[in-house]
Amino acid sequence: MAAVLSSPIESQVAVSATKLLINGQWVNSQSGKTFATINPSTGKEICQVSEADAADVDIAVKAARAAFDKGPWRKTSGSERGRLLNKLADLIEKNADELARLESLDNGKPFLVAKAADLPLTIACYRYYAGWADKLQGKTIPVNGDYFCYTRHEPIGVVGQIIPWNFPLLMQAWKLAPALATGNTVVMKPAEQTPLTALRVGELILEAGFPAGVVNLLPGYGPTAGGAISKHMDVDKVAFTGSTEVGHLIMEAAAKSNLKRVTLELGGKSPNIVFADANLDEAIEGAHFALFFNQGQCCCAGSRLFVEEKAYDEFVEKSVARAAKRTVGNPFDPATEQGPQVDKDQFDKVMGYIQSGQSQGAKLVHGGGRVGDEGYFIQPTVFADVKDNMKIAEEEIFGPVMSIIKFKDIDEVIERANRTIYGLAAAVWTRDISKAHAIANNVRAGTVWVNCYDVFDSAAPFGGFKQSGIGRELGEYGLQQYSEVKTVTVKL
Ligand code: NAP
Ligand code: MG
Repeated sequence: MAAVLSSPIESQVAVSATKLLINGQWVNSQSGKTFATINPSTGKEICQVSEADAADVDIAVKAARAAFDKGPWRKTSGSERGRLLNKLADLIEKNADELARLESLDNGKPFLVAKAADLPLTIACYRYYAGWADKLQGKTIPVNGDYFCYTRHEPIGVVGQIIPWNFPLLMQAWKLAPALATGNTVVMKPAEQTPLTALRVGELILEAGFPAGVVNLLPGYGPTAGGAISKHMDVDKVAFTGSTEVGHLIMEAAAKSNLKRVTLELGGKSPNIVFADANLDEAIEGAHFALFFNQGQCCCAGSRLFVEEKAYDEFVEKSVARAAKRTVGNPFDPATEQGPQVDKDQFDKVMGYIQSGQSQGAKLVHGGGRVGDEGYFIQPTVFADVKDNMKIAEEEIFGPVMSIIKFKDIDEVIERANRTIYGLAAAVWTRDISKAHAIANNVRAGTVWVNCYDVFDSAAPFGGFKQSGIGRELGEYGLQQYSEVKTVTVKL
């Protein structure tokens, strides 16, 4: 089926995959139910997608189990797994333009951003883990007595993966690539808001030649399909990215079922700290990017922007001028920097935070309103004079709302930066190497950027301290989350 959508000419995208991928076949859900995926630029339906529920999860887990226990995947060598992952990367690269359009249509992010950021990072991630697939080795261990002891790094088994809507292709890659490189099989639920690119990649997975049952894709809703994955007795591990609230539910379901391994990549309220000695123009542009990139829908957004007192007024003034220049509109227009929020729920949530900022006494210095009367566009919004205990400074907004907070000195700002339940990322802008290291060493966060922001690489681990998550993704550390260590002891 190749439906060409009746959207403007520049956004025409053919949607070819809308069913569940189970055991190498595209199938309807057991219930026959479907749901609409929406174009957030218009609020209108793009197409209907099959809706997975517990019965479908059960069938998919059986297929993944069979592929793992008895299927060809168990005997597939590391170098062959690497070859398949490289093949998938090549196919994604070959179809990059189409995938970027589909991502833009379903998620609302600007097409050129998807093309320049999401696609290259996705391709690089599959290639990076393809390279690891034949390099997963244990150790030989000198033990007491006449024994030979060694370790094997084995796959965990059937892995459930639940991913969010903010970077659909990239989050799929962060989850699938290390799981497959290490020899696991997967049952994945894409976010209900953005299933289309995950399913298109499913077609490319089949084209690359992955055996049936190794990757199963089940679009559907969190409490039903997602819940069924996280409490399934035959799923050995669940990896989740999304809200901290749902992270608690995933862990609870794992604890109450089979103690499946859990990795979580959750929310954040990341401090972005600007000292007066920084290159202010670079810091202002960096802080703008740190907050507004991806419509503000980043788990690591620099959403608590601490600026040193001496530079505060100039910083606010110039940040407002930068926000005022930000272009909001049609994601397929090459001049667009910011598209719509992903759906009406997110739009309403963000607008609610803007209201709360005003009613709690923060100073709205730019934006604050809706753009247009169709779709879910929000003006780049800037608040000054934000206090630590306001809701907009404490809770994850996940939208284009910048909160600029004043600080006096380094000890104070470290203490305030750490006063949060989160610990995903942080950044510091300064020309003073001692201040940079003091922040890097003392802020409790999984990633610290110095004089930069949102610099990602497949080789560099990412994940949270505190309630921002458990475990790390990417890099060599990401592999450990998909392997069991087996100790073998041989009497000599
Ligand atoms: P969410 O509910 O945590 O969604 C993330 C994923 O988890 C989706 O696939 C979702 O399914 C699924 N899910 C929801 N409830 C579940 C359950 N009980 N069991 C298993 N899986 C479940 O996030 P959201 O509602 O889309 O967004 C709410 C807030 O979460 C945002 O405003 C933002 O603050 C945060 N968030 C963070 C990230 C991140 O990158 N860390 C990403 C997205 C959102 P559905 O498709 O049905 O929702
Ligand atoms: Mg959509």
